[in-house]
Amino acid sequence: MDLYEYQAKELFGKHGLPITAGDVALDVDAAVAIATSINGPVVIKAQVKVGGRGKAGGVKLAKDPAETREIAGAILGMDIKGHTVHKVLVAHAADIAEEYYVSFLLDRSNRSFLAMASVEGGVEIEEVAVNNPDALAKIRVDALEGVTPAKAREIAAAAKFDEAIQGQVADILVKMWEVMVAEDATLVEVNPLVLTPTGEVLALDGKVTIDDNAGYRQPDHAGFDDSDADNIETRARAMDLNYVKLQGDVGIIGNGAGLVMSTLDVVAYAGEEFGGIKPANFLDIGGGASAEVMANGLDIVLNDPEVQAVFVNIFGGITACDAVANGILQAVDQLGDSVTKPIVARIDGNNAVEGRAILNKANHKFIELVDTMDAAARRVAELAAARKGA
Ligand code: GDP
Ligand code: MN
Repeated sequence: MDLYEYQAKELFGKHGLPITAGDVALDVDAAVAIATSINGPVVIKAQVKVGGRGKAGGVKLAKDPAETREIAGAILGMDIKGHTVHKVLVAHAADIAEEYYVSFLLDRSNRSFLAMASVEGGVEIEEVAVNNPDALAKIRVDALEGVTPAKAREIAAAAKFDEAIQGQVADILVKMWEVMVAEDATLVEVNPLVLTPTGEVLALDGKVTIDDNAGYRQPDHAGFDDSDADNIETRARAMDLNYVKLQGDVGIIGNGAGLVMSTLDVVAYAGEEFGGIKPANFLDIGGGASAEVMANGLDIVLNDPEVQAVFVNIFGGITACDAVANGILQAVDQLGDSVTKPIVARIDGNNAVEGRAILNKANHKFIELVDTMDAAARRVAELAAARKGA
């Protein structure tokens, strides 16, 4: 999960990083109240989970509460790259002498972590990486050794921070690494890290991505999730389903991540013939594939308005196909009249013959049995295309 800037700064504050005083507001009055208590110039910042807010007009300075009222009113409700602004951060406005960039991220391709730092911050770091690669220091961070004060010094020196502030920067890097480890983050980025005219180094912007797989040991992070309850992925998560929404027309349900991934491939391939029909989701219901899990899965997938047809692709293993077939029937039974889209089922593996016999006998008007994965993919793409065109 990506955090909002104000949430990232909450974690920064908790780990002792230097940030400016401020708070988040949901409406103009609250924004004015924060500006009043800060009692000085403030910066008003749109809270949306995309970068480049400044360029898009979502970061503005206000000299007093009256100006805060005007600016917060303009920013709240604004659209930034498709994200509506529902919250603003109102913070003490810092004076800036210089802007820098510092980050830690999980570097999957090198099986380690990576520190990046540059004295040319503020701008998009991708630009620096392309136009002036020498100005961006990249240092590998060993997961077990972590960022010691000496390592932090090495990073600050490699990025050519002025000697006078290398100590402050190194201290900030050590604390950012603490955020990485203690909060189970995969990214901690500060852009800009600024130097004030009085020689203080402050984190003015923050971006943190936390690893949802560590959610079980981070109960405090639950409060960070503000995704709305109607969202399909949120509902799937509540049902403990391994679901990822994609852009497409064919709902996919399978058991085992590998099988589901190859199902996505064969559906996308078969869909080419039918005007570009694509899979609408990834959903792995796992080895057990009980009737209840199948019902939850079908419920999620059938309620996706984009889905025109569903492909249930099961390879029976420990859970034999007859049990899966009964599970599918119980599931559509439980869902009753809400099943209005064609379901193509391919079941193979342990007790496939018995499983198919059960589905054939039931003769459900929305369930069609196809024996091979390729033929089933072709059939579901055809059904989806027909319904989409209708
Ligand atoms: P982003 O555009 O989404 O990355 O948002 P940032 O928080 O990085 O803000 C964009 C720019 O606004 C920064 O690079 C700064 O130049 C400016 N800015 C942000 N906060 C302050 C502040 O407290 N004081 C001043 N003077 N400028 C700020
Ligand atoms: Mn920024």
